[in-house]
Amino acid sequence: MIPSVLPTYNRAPLAFERGEGSWLTTTDGSRYLDLGAGIAVNALGHAHPDLVAVLTEQAGKLWHVSNLYQIPEQQKLADLLVENTFADTVFVTNSGTEAAELAIKMARKYWYDKGQPDRIEILTFDGAFHGRSTGAIAAAGSEKMVKGYGPLMPGFKTLPFGDHEALRAAVTEKTAAVMVEPIQGEGGIRALPDACLKGMRDLCDQTGALLILDEVQCGVGRSGKLFAHEWAGITPDIMMVAKGIGGGFPLGAVLATENAASGMIAGSHGSTYGGNPLGCAVGAKVLEIIADPAFMAEVNRKAALFRQGLESLVASHPDIYEAVRGEGLMLGLKCAAVNSDVVKANYAQNLLTVPAADNVIRLLPALNIPDADIAEALSRLDKAATSLAAT
Ligand SMILES: *Cc1c(COP(=O)(O)O)cnc(C)c1O
Repeated sequence: MIPSVLPTYNRAPLAFERGEGSWLTTTDGSRYLDLGAGIAVNALGHAHPDLVAVLTEQAGKLWHVSNLYQIPEQQKLADLLVENTFADTVFVTNSGTEAAELAIKMARKYWYDKGQPDRIEILTFDGAFHGRSTGAIAAAGSEKMVKGYGPLMPGFKTLPFGDHEALRAAVTEKTAAVMVEPIQGEGGIRALPDACLKGMRDLCDQTGALLILDEVQCGVGRSGKLFAHEWAGITPDIMMVAKGIGGGFPLGAVLATENAASGMIAGSHGSTYGGNPLGCAVGAKVLEIIADPAFMAEVNRKAALFRQGLESLVASHPDIYEAVRGEGLMLGLKCAAVNSDVVKANYAQNLLTVPAADNVIRLLPALNIPDADIAEALSRLDKAATSLAAT
């Protein structure tokens, strides 16, 4: 008999009822150290007092109004994003998938309005993840995600990740945009080298193609910069954001330059819930905290500390781990053992880690994880690796 919850996930036998900082407590009272943060969502940990305060205050005032009206909290969030990034304009969504949909629509509308309606192709990369809508699975193109769901939305071409020559050869007069994650999350914490991102920007500048960055997982402070593309010193034309921006509240956004957004006029896109006062009030607070240079300096200090410990972990357990990957607090361990076994061994140490493709486990802690919790995490990872080696 089919379970009452549609069985699209292989769930661990863990149910949590409380969270505080980097710790989660199960319904039967066990405490787990959380290095998953709801897959890079709880950027400020669980139950951050400032977020609880802003959410409950807004909950007492107004939850939802239609985008038929001005929404001051949405205006505040958009202004903050514009102040702190390349963007001139922002559309607020409820998720990363919705952000992907708008990014795709915006790129096509741009060329349509420029009188080039055949310029519809979007170049994407293997290992990519852009969400689960029909458009987003067509964009990522992986067999696992698209099988059985055809016919797929046409107009995407998947190229080898990080292969600049393949990209150069693939850009034609039909190319509307290039869409890429600066650091792949689901794909196995694979960072695009800065030189690659710069090369993509140059290629887009030469051909007019729009550069769409998917920073749903690597954005909002995760990489050690507010947005990961800042490491390469370039800016995109369109950027998708979600996950960390809501700190746990469902929230996403599409950021764009005035030029890239030029096709988007009244009636060209919309959302019932996107930009609601509750989500935007929380998002604005998250951004205020994370965009502070002092906060980001701490993220980088913690990241260096964690990374150093992980390098020693890998060195002490070559039969379990091969290498450390990633930037900032978007870290991955390439496993020599089977990654799902490593995740299970970590569960046995009351430690939450997240598997990814390419036999990697992801470490995506809260960006404000205390140093003591980093030390505790390293000790539990070490115990788990030792226990796994003994089996
Ligand atoms: C999670 C993710 C998405 C999809 O976001 P949802 O909020 O799950 O719809 C898109 N792109 C990337 C890079 C992601 O990590």
